[in-house]
Amino acid sequence: MKRTLPAVEGGEPVRESALPFALPTIGEKEIAEVVETLKSGWLTVGPRTKRFEEMVAGYIGVMGAAALSSCTAGLHLGMIVLGVGEGDEVILPALNFIAGPNCAIHLGATPVLVDVDPETLSVTPEILAAAITERTKLVVPVHFGGRPIDIDGIMEVARSRGVAVLGDAAHAMGADYGERRVGSVADATSFSFYVTKGITTGEGGILTSPNADLAHRVGVLSLHGMSSGAWNRYSERGSWFYEVHEPGYKYNMSDLEAAIGIHQMEKVDEFRERREKIARVFDNGLRTEEAIRVPPWCDSNSHAWHLYPIRLRPDLLKIDRDAFVRSLGDEGIGASVHFIPIHYHGYYSKRLDYGRGSFPVTEAFFQQAVSLPIYPSMSDDDANDVVEAVRKLIDYYRK
Ligand SMILES: *Cc1c(COP(=O)(O)O)cnc(C)c1O
Repeated sequence: MKRTLPAVEGGEPVRESALPFALPTIGEKEIAEVVETLKSGWLTVGPRTKRFEEMVAGYIGVMGAAALSSCTAGLHLGMIVLGVGEGDEVILPALNFIAGPNCAIHLGATPVLVDVDPETLSVTPEILAAAITERTKLVVPVHFGGRPIDIDGIMEVARSRGVAVLGDAAHAMGADYGERRVGSVADATSFSFYVTKGITTGEGGILTSPNADLAHRVGVLSLHGMSSGAWNRYSERGSWFYEVHEPGYKYNMSDLEAAIGIHQMEKVDEFRERREKIARVFDNGLRTEEAIRVPPWCDSNSHAWHLYPIRLRPDLLKIDRDAFVRSLGDEGIGASVHFIPIHYHGYYSKRLDYGRGSFPVTEAFFQQAVSLPIYPSMSDDDANDVVEAVRKLIDYYRK
């Protein structure tokens, strides 16, 4: 077997110009709409935010949507409206971004961490059923990498035990469960429009719910809890009047962000299809490599393919994950790791009682996982370069 010298060992890199791990895909329409918004004089929450909310609600197929400053804001407000408070337990996967667990802590609740299924890397109905106690108020399953989860099974277990479901769909805009979109089934679902996510508003998020009243309450809480009751429009008092029935937060989206989002939403399916095509190139190029595992394909539902994490097999490779990520960088391929298990973070290792080894699937995945770049503006050549670089490193470092 021919072993080409990796760049990290002094060989020629696969690419001369580096391929970043993530890039937003911003078109002329987004730029023109932002300029229009600036010229309009209305920069904060207003007509464009409303239009964006309606677009997302229509796409997801729900009556309720509240555009917010981030997905984290949606997780925080979602927990509040689903009744999480002092002393409650909130079940979350250990393979997770820190946003969900932090929100539970802010509300005085206890994050109860669970391991994930090795195939989907998400919470299953069985995992949930085993973790529920009489103090459980809520479960926050993560659609890891944009892969749809068994939402019907999770809803059934949760409903039968009086537990609410708040989906963390930060990765999953555009994913579906067959006929229904992710975001239309759980009690509430929070999406992210952070710059690396499926579609972006720079910073932003949205909470969707089949329950319009719940989403409305989230909208009110996102603006200090200010509500100008419907009666007010017909009153003598005029538009300056508002009432506060519960203390809210400042978590609203602005029209400047929505200006970007409106045109990103127009391309949500196109973007997802492009990422799926790139995933197909990776799958075809890497599936037969014994020394790594590629993410399992997902046939029945559409996968948002926000992440494409390969897993290195330490028994077959002389290189560990950190060195592999560095070596890919030297080949001109940006890569990343998702996620550092929640209980490895300093605060959580002290606050919660989980030692190393508590979540074997999560922890093994963390040791082995390398997220490859996957975004709509990547060309087929870019995708082929990624395959070539991964194969080159595997060939050179094979045991
Ligand atoms: C990115 C991310 C979030 C947070 O999204 P923001 O919009 O930045 O608040 C939450 N959960 C997961 C799983 C994420 O990857």
